[in-house]
Amino acid sequence: MLNALHPQPQDKILQLIQMFKDDPRTDKIDLGVGVYKDATGLTPVMRAVKAAEKQLWETQDTKAYTGLAGDPAYAAAMQSMLLGDTVPADRLSAIATPGGTGAIRQALELIKLASPQATVWLSNPTWPNHPSIIKYLGMPMAEYRYFDDQTRGVDFDGMMADLAGVKPGDVVLLHACCHNPTGANLTLNQWSAVADNLEKTGAIPFIDIAYQGFGDGLDADAAGMRLLAARLPELLIAASCSKNFGIYRERTGILIAVSPRADKRAVVQGNLAFLNRQNYSFPPDHGARLVTMILNDPTLRADWQAELESIRLNMLTLRASLAAELRRLTNSDRFDFLGQHRGMFSRLGATPEQVETLRRDHGIYMVSDSRMNIAGLNAKTVPILAAAIIATGI
Ligand code: PMP
Repeated sequence: MLNALHPQPQDKILQLIQMFKDDPRTDKIDLGVGVYKDATGLTPVMRAVKAAEKQLWETQDTKAYTGLAGDPAYAAAMQSMLLGDTVPADRLSAIATPGGTGAIRQALELIKLASPQATVWLSNPTWPNHPSIIKYLGMPMAEYRYFDDQTRGVDFDGMMADLAGVKPGDVVLLHACCHNPTGANLTLNQWSAVADNLEKTGAIPFIDIAYQGFGDGLDADAAGMRLLAARLPELLIAASCSKNFGIYRERTGILIAVSPRADKRAVVQGNLAFLNRQNYSFPPDHGARLVTMILNDPTLRADWQAELESIRLNMLTLRASLAAELRRLTNSDRFDFLGQHRGMFSRLGATPEQVETLRRDHGIYMVSDSRMNIAGLNAKTVPILAAAIIATGI
């Protein structure tokens, strides 16, 4: 049986990590991998997470199974962080999942279960795991235009023109904030126009929110999603705690389904729990428990929010200084988009050859589509990157 297996294509980002490791240059710069790094290149355990872990170690007296959907207190705390009081609790169902990826996978399986013919629409470009999982599940998939290669902002006219073609019951996957890989995001007015389109076409929004708090703040980053939740009968939300709690390896995520009516909630919840059971039975609990403790304890929460805010501001400062340095070097506003993008990533708009030159000649690593992780920079490397961008003719 195992002889019948074919090699799988290598993951581009993992390949890049290996190349970076193998590069002997001491002044190399890693803008590839998608984790937050501080000025010293570390991905720290957040203070509130450490404190919660200590408390948990002292107080936890069992590690027996939780429920199939995870701890209801986790769902309640996450629903409140994600949606505020936009949707009444009796329309919400949720399951804890292994990371945001687990939530996306379970959401897609739920779509397949409910509506196997539905086409899932993805932004072009999007996080490569989206099309990869959809393809693996054999689901119909389509793309809508999203990124304008000229302005490096959202191609909103193109997006709306493409979304005019969605059919009732289709699913439109949208990044709530901090779009990966481009860094270009919708304004609230544009979210409102998307809501108009979804109302008109009868398509269902599926929100991927993996960076809440990394863009414009916890509430601001959720504003577009909340606008959709307030207006539309149905919504799926796949959320990740990997980035905003810095608990990447704990695999902490949640899938939330907003039902049209309260009397549908129990069936939806039962189907979500069923999917957890089929795939891994009980979801991981450690990260979810830490998140619940932090969100429900005013002291831990305040400290977590303060640290998250400093992470956000650090990335904004790096963005502003990179844009300013490129403005100075080019005497133009050509790179101002870097200051307007939000989140960890920006698509620079370089060709794969230019990305290769940056790596070969300057030891600067980014993904071949020119997605760079802004958090991989620091005050010292910003001018080095800016000079390399100019030297490469980008
Ligand atoms: N969605 C997007 C857009 C992401 O960038 C990521 C992380 N790279 C995820 C979901 C999932 O993250 P995780 O599974 O690590 O929680």
